[in-house]
Amino acid sequence: MHELPITKSIFKSVIAKAESVGAKSVRMVALEIGVLRDFIPEFVQKYWNYITPGSIAEGSVIQIKEIDATASCGKCGTIYRIDTKNIQDSKCPECGYDYGTLITGRELKIVGIEIESCKEDKVDK
Ligand SMILES: [Zn+2]
Repeated sequence: MHELPITKSIFKSVIAKAESVGAKSVRMVALEIGVLRDFIPEFVQKYWNYITPGSIAEGSVIQIKEIDATASCGKCGTIYRIDTKNIQDSKCPECGYDYGTLITGRELKIVGIEIESCKEDKVDK
């Protein structure tokens, strides 16, 4: 259920950004979310549909790119992918050392916002 407050904060950022460039509406929002965030993408879209009505982001689509969890081995520096179902047992595939520094997997970034700008507006009578 932690998706809701985070979706709300994404919403605030998106609206602020879109308004700062004079957007008429938001069509699409692209996110990068690390797998360790334990997000369920469908929930994000569901909450998005719940939050956005009445705003310029109403009807927009969320695109989520999931980022794999990777770590750098504390011994030999090899970068390897972490099996998120088995994090405690993740080891360096090169030397077997079991302590690594997390590199990716905890991202939560807005990487793109597609907007419809006011400039395309037809002039109202
Ligand atoms: Zn290693």
